[in-house]
Amino acid sequence: MNRVTRRAISVALMPVFVLAVLPGFLAQAGAADAKLRALIIDGQNNHTAWPQTTMMTKKYLEESGRFTVDIERTQFTWKGGKLLEQFPLEDGKTYQDLPQPKTDPDFNPKFSDYDVVISNFGWNAAPWPEATQKALEDFVGGGGGLVVIHAADNSFAEWNEFNKMIGIGGWGGRNEQSGPYVYINLDGEVVRDTTAGPGGNHGPAHEYQVIVRSPDHPIVKGLPSAWLHTRDELYQKLRGPAVNMTILATAYADPKYKGTGRHEPKLMTIDYGKGRIFHTTMGHDAVSFSGVGFITTLVRGCEWAATGDVTLTDVPEDFPSPTESSAREF
Ligand SMILES: [Zn+2]
Repeated sequence: MNRVTRRAISVALMPVFVLAVLPGFLAQAGAADAKLRALIIDGQNNHTAWPQTTMMTKKYLEESGRFTVDIERTQFTWKGGKLLEQFPLEDGKTYQDLPQPKTDPDFNPKFSDYDVVISNFGWNAAPWPEATQKALEDFVGGGGGLVVIHAADNSFAEWNEFNKMIGIGGWGGRNEQSGPYVYINLDGEVVRDTTAGPGGNHGPAHEYQVIVRSPDHPIVKGLPSAWLHTRDELYQKLRGPAVNMTILATAYADPKYKGTGRHEPKLMTIDYGKGRIFHTTMGHDAVSFSGVGFITTLVRGCEWAATGDVTLTDVPEDFPSPTESSAREF
């Protein structure tokens, strides 16, 4: 349409446009402009890649065009090492990397300012102040979103409500008191196994196939039914309350890699009060974080946790096939 025609139409139709179309148009533009607010929390994680994987998460979310991202870190950090200098927060605050995790009495993010909170804490993280624990429970229970990545399901074994939010977890003293082992057996049935024993295990990292189990769930809808994940630890023998938990995808823990011979949950969702949790057990290091299957499900999972739906439905052209993994440069 040339400019003259467009002008003629716009003049002729202006009153109709203003009355009927403009309010809807503005509302739509407003919705598109209103990005989801994500908060990444970190600071203490035995996985020394954490300062980098936090920045990778931030980048992936921002690149999607759907999120603004803030980061809040405990003032006492653990195992941040040199990567803290390589990937600084530049927020003007002072941090102290300590030889042992230590509770930060001032760690109290305003969760209610956000749509989704993403935990990049890990094994052995020091307990949060009680008020901060309560604030997260209120935030998620009241309808907020939480995303738990890999070793974040190792944290806080003593915190009952956290265990309900993550569904299943490992290490930190988790055992039969924590809840059943949950996995899918070779007949495709979900098993809740109350056998006594420690929660959490993995063999040597390797590439493995992720198999979709809930193809209609928005986080995995439209993705290939199986894809090869980049080299990663294959978490197995996780256990926990597993209440209101849906397994979206699993991976076969091959005995060849010291595996259980079971299909172990890789992607899960959990309902907690009015809130939503997305839990990915993948993401051991920067290599795992570079996998396109990991990235795609992480970003979709964050959107779902924030809103209960996924608009980022495009399947990336570089998405892995069932037999070939794919990764992106960071
Ligand atoms: Zn790991």
